[in-house]
Amino acid sequence: MRTHWCGELRPAHAGQRVALCGWVHRRRDLGGLVFLDLRDREGVVQVVCTPQHPAHATAQQVRPEYVVRVQGQVVLRPAHTVNPKIPTGEVEVRAETLEVLNPSRTPPFEVADDAEVDETVRLRYRYLDLRRERMQRNLRLRHRLAKATRDFLDREGFWEVETPHLIRATPEGARDFLVPSRLHPGKFYVLPQSPQLLKQILMVAGVERYFQLARCFRDEDLRADRQPEFTQIDVEMSFVDRDDVLGLVERLVQHLMREALGVEVPAPFPRLSYREALLRYGTDKPDLRYGLAIEDVTELAKAAELRLFREAEAVRCLRVPEGAATPRRELEHLVAVAVEAGAPGLLHLALQPDGPKGPLARHLTDGLLDAVCSATGAGRGDLLVFVAGAGDVASAALGKVRQHVAGRLGMVRDGTFAYAWVLDFPLLEWAPEEGRYVAVHHPFTAPVDEDEEHLESDPLRVRAKAYDLVLNGVEVAGGSIRIHRRDLQERVFRLLGIGPEQAQERFGFLLEAFQYGAPPHGGIAFGFDRLVMVLAGEDTIRDVIAFPKTASAVDLMMGAPSEVDEAQLREVHIAVRKPAVP
Ligand code: ASP
Repeated sequence: MRTHWCGELRPAHAGQRVALCGWVHRRRDLGGLVFLDLRDREGVVQVVCTPQHPAHATAQQVRPEYVVRVQGQVVLRPAHTVNPKIPTGEVEVRAETLEVLNPSRTPPFEVADDAEVDETVRLRYRYLDLRRERMQRNLRLRHRLAKATRDFLDREGFWEVETPHLIRATPEGARDFLVPSRLHPGKFYVLPQSPQLLKQILMVAGVERYFQLARCFRDEDLRADRQPEFTQIDVEMSFVDRDDVLGLVERLVQHLMREALGVEVPAPFPRLSYREALLRYGTDKPDLRYGLAIEDVTELAKAAELRLFREAEAVRCLRVPEGAATPRRELEHLVAVAVEAGAPGLLHLALQPDGPKGPLARHLTDGLLDAVCSATGAGRGDLLVFVAGAGDVASAALGKVRQHVAGRLGMVRDGTFAYAWVLDFPLLEWAPEEGRYVAVHHPFTAPVDEDEEHLESDPLRVRAKAYDLVLNGVEVAGGSIRIHRRDLQERVFRLLGIGPEQAQERFGFLLEAFQYGAPPHGGIAFGFDRLVMVLAGEDTIRDVIAFPKTASAVDLMMGAPSEVDEAQLREVHIAVRKPAVP
């Protein structure tokens, strides 16, 4: 039906007769002339309808979002009517015929990027929302990244293997979605939280290099920017150590950045230990687009007159470059940010030209002040802010202050991409509400070799062979080298309070497989939606998913979840227990 895309026409097409199809974006009726902006996936072009041609009469009747087909000639626009804002702005199409292929009801909102539309309305009419240029750009970027992923991994010898959606429970620690079995009354399938166990079994099966753009399902409580179903680039490899996986991922990321964005990112990516990330940035997902690292001045502070400093478990400090003149209101705001993040307070010291100012000024001797300045690299004109208290709390609070300050100082520039590895996570953490250790990553993650001997004696000091990839402060991938020996797996299960029967009942098939020659293996999974989100410059993953659910897990367009009729319930042997009305 068409010879060209609307968005592809350029001066080189002048003189050509073309057929275009698309949606009426805007219409301007000047009486004698009717201008239509015609839009398709590739862009918008101006169509002119003059009274000489039958297109004119039809043009007077069309409305926004009508679907039309235009035939006519591409001409150069007169110089004074060139529109430099759109790529087709130097040309227009003189319409000869204009056919309405389908009219449209008046849309509930204008299909335009700058239209302010409530998200519930956008999700309710997602097909209109997706017509917007920005959303089409996001879908295209997502496609390009998926394609580049497949191309790259194929070249590296990976096979894409599909794993089933109807399975037994997997171990990612969220709640499972259940699917009742019709053929087996009272039994249920579980939707995979990830293909974790199956990809490990593929390694036992000799696949060696596996990947999958895999859908994962986690029935989690409402949390900002989570989706009950999401996509991973899931990867597993045999006969590798940690650095092999990191190297592969760095090459994959470089390829994706080049193919999809034309951006070169240097590798290897910076590596931080988990402890270092918490200490220096107050988070295990540090945004390294800017510096502003937190300094530990606990030892120095022991010489302070201020008791609060002398006796604190930790004193941490952040230097705000050129911040000495920060107005009082902003200083109060920094305190609020720190307190909100759990700090008991925040003290500042402004290194003004005529000497230090602020509540701390009179508590620091000159010698101490010099020592703090040299530890933090601070000089005249800077501001120092301090939090005293428990170490992790102090750093976490300064981490929030750090983000706030970076935003305010314009240090976070769009279009910059800072990747970093966070390594050496602890294997276990104590879950007080459950009264047991839980795996920080998942129960199949291997401990660091030299820490293995402390598994029973000092479990919390055992580091894991786990790694997270962080991009601009967002965790975009995580993985680990796995346990491949049954005895070690059983020790870890024991620590996690998973007894032999329970291990057998939940993961028996994996433990059995491990007895038939499991190769050493490891892998990683990217949160694909989050990766696309950051690369697209969006703030929510909903904007890079065609049909997302709301934060309360509802599909507003289809109306899911919904009730089903009694007959369907009977077939799957389910009786619904209505929740008690509070
Ligand atoms: N299955 C893990 C996850 O979903 C990733 C991995 O360990 O490869 O987080």
